Amino acid sequence: MTSEYHDRPTPEQIRRAPKVLLHDHLDGGLRPATVAELARETGYDALPESDPRKLGDWFREAADSGSLERYLETFAHTCGVMQTRDALFRVAAECAEDLAADGVVYAEVRYAPEQHLTRGLTLEQVVEAVNEGFREGERRAGENGHRIRVGALLTAMRHAARALEIAELANGFRDRGVVGFDIAGAEAGYPPTRHLDAFEYLKRENNHFTIHAGEAFGLPSIWQALQWCGADRLGHGVRIIDDIQVADDGSVTLGRLASYVRDKRIPLELCPTSNLQTGAARSYAEHPIGLLRRLQFRATVNTDNRLMSGTSMSDEFAHLVSTFHYTLDDMQWFTVNAMKSAFIPFDERLAMINDVIKPGYAELKSEWLFRRMASASPVTRGSGAEGK
Ligand SMILES: [Zn+2]
Repeated sequence: MTSEYHDRPTPEQIRRAPKVLLHDHLDGGLRPATVAELARETGYDALPESDPRKLGDWFREAADSGSLERYLETFAHTCGVMQTRDALFRVAAECAEDLAADGVVYAEVRYAPEQHLTRGLTLEQVVEAVNEGFREGERRAGENGHRIRVGALLTAMRHAARALEIAELANGFRDRGVVGFDIAGAEAGYPPTRHLDAFEYLKRENNHFTIHAGEAFGLPSIWQALQWCGADRLGHGVRIIDDIQVADDGSVTLGRLASYVRDKRIPLELCPTSNLQTGAARSYAEHPIGLLRRLQFRATVNTDNRLMSGTSMSDEFAHLVSTFHYTLDDMQWFTVNAMKSAFIPFDERLAMINDVIKPGYAELKSEWLFRRMASASPVTRGSGAEGK
């Protein structure tokens, strides 16, 4: 797809551009200083570092080890400090604030309520604390001139056996801050079909869900998530690339599953930096997002775990801009894709696209246009004005 706007967006334009985030873990996005403070306040004594800067480095290094299983270990510490109502409220509020400051206008943030019960909270109390935190974060962001809307996705852990219970919880809160359901955790050995009862329940309730699939594990996981479980979206789904053949002459052939995913506009919640850390891709240049965007899959850009990956939505787009020479048009395409794929009602998605996203990009493009005109005609601008 060609673009009128060949200039690469600057880091400042990338940050200001409206962005939509569908795949971000609440327990993967804490500020390092908050982890350290909450550990002190709640008596959690297992942190490997207490200095926030060193702690931030430790999370990134542990996550860089190249294995999904090791990557997941880092969550023992973040979940360890998120066991009280106040801690959950604070983490959720800061999450909404941080995303808004980064230019995110709509986000679906996920977490597993079952991982926050060790100090006696009930599942309902966990969800209420996080919802209240998100509302507080939206309010504080608004005071700072950033508008954001955050919906929660409730996650069930795929190695556990509480998926139906968590699905019922998500359904109970569906008009009160929770917009959908997800399953997460190590893929190998824990196929999504273990949780069919939860997915069938949500389908009967006309509710929405995404499934982590096709990250560490390949096509069978994606196929099960779609054709057995009925997922609305794929968490990652990046291994769909295994069903796409690119010949030496550049011609592309899609297998049956890849065709289905593209034809049905199944959203792919792609998380480039996270994939590099877990070994699902070797470099940004080799990340399948380049090909998937060219082939017009319903690709979206996401952060996954901002703390462990040391990333943000702006950082993700900055990597893609420098690797694939993406423009503001490309950023808008990914952003509209994400908004179309959100779990809020259609009319609300449309309003976000027409009233927030498109005007935001139009403003950035018009700034670019005026800057170009100003630099192209320095002489004509001043002529004739001096004698008056
Ligand atoms: Zn994830």
